[in-house]
Amino acid sequence: MDDGAITQGLWTEAGLEELPQAIALRRAIHMEPELGLHLPKTTAKLKAALAGLPLEFKEGPSTTGVMAILRGPANGRTVLLRGDMDALPLTEDTGVDFVSQVPGAMHACGHDTHVAMLVGAARILCAHRERLNGTVMFMVQPGEEGWHGAKHMIDDGLLADPAPDVCFAIHISPNMPAGVFGSRHGPLLASADKVRARIVGKGGHASAPHDAADPVPVACEIVTALQTFITRQIPVFDPAVLTIGKIEAGTTDNIIPEEARLLGTVRALSERSRAKVHEGFERIAHHIAAAHGLTAETEVEQGFPVTVNHNHVVDLVARTARQLFGEGAFKSMPSPLMGAEDFAYVLQKFPGAMAFLGAAPEGGDWRSCCPLHSNRMILDETQMARGIALHCAVAEAVLNGEDL
Ligand SMILES: [Zn+2]
Ligand SMILES: [Zn+2]
Repeated sequence: MDDGAITQGLWTEAGLEELPQAIALRRAIHMEPELGLHLPKTTAKLKAALAGLPLEFKEGPSTTGVMAILRGPANGRTVLLRGDMDALPLTEDTGVDFVSQVPGAMHACGHDTHVAMLVGAARILCAHRERLNGTVMFMVQPGEEGWHGAKHMIDDGLLADPAPDVCFAIHISPNMPAGVFGSRHGPLLASADKVRARIVGKGGHASAPHDAADPVPVACEIVTALQTFITRQIPVFDPAVLTIGKIEAGTTDNIIPEEARLLGTVRALSERSRAKVHEGFERIAHHIAAAHGLTAETEVEQGFPVTVNHNHVVDLVARTARQLFGEGAFKSMPSPLMGAEDFAYVLQKFPGAMAFLGAAPEGGDWRSCCPLHSNRMILDETQMARGIALHCAVAEAVLNGEDL
């Protein structure tokens, strides 16, 4: 077998060779974005790009997600490379040549590049199949943007037989220097849950509040008390965010409404803090309402769990990225982000890590360019070459002897 340096050169060169095809596929997917768990057009493009490769395909009943499996000549470990493929419900305003042709849908989270990078890696790894002491699973999932697509694929049995020993995902980012990978030990992204409260009083004339039971000041008191709760009861070293983003009550100035409604989001970096905020939200809403003689109904809608990287896989990814592209190619992120990721479900079950790939557009300052989920978000798509190479090199490192 070649020595490490030659293999690394192989992956970086192969990544560059794949770039034109990756750009073409990314742009085709970008022009026809789809939302949710069922993405027939995107899946068709994915399958066409993988046609003829020595892959086994597995699909489940719940989504149009695809698991493509490459078996090397030896029965060794199994590594899973994951990409997501859904878009977001907003209208694109970037002015690029390959702008979305679907009003109200845009690949504003860069998932089009994630599909293209995985396809590039699949094509390269299939061509070098004889090097692989084990199995590579390419997991292409829909429904990352709040639809629990990864969980559906797990529940459909697509991550069993084979089950991965190590999982790896790349998320592209316009707000990091181009070509630099970033990740960190432990929590990388937060959990994201919705909380709702309905405060029920008694409607009446605004001039006679003593004859009514006004839910409006009670709702306001709950919002304020929740912020006190967060700062006084949630440990500062295991932080959480609770934002009430919507308050709804009443119709006009001279009516006391019967009810008020609150809607908010909870972000946490550990399951412990997450559970504590859920409990505190319900307790405060119920007890403040009760203190004023009203009642509250509460609901916690569970979203994605905390995305927690496994440290030894982060170390493997960091080492591999530096071997491929030099010392500065991997940066350890000083803090997690409070966004959330469906890949969290995969990392709850299997060891693995997610890394960000910087793709700030050329000439733009990564600190100030339009972020993910913006209608003006633009990426330097040439950085996909690095993502493709890292997918291949991480797969090889897992399968061919790196200690885990
Ligand atoms: Zn997103
Ligand atoms: Zn995303």
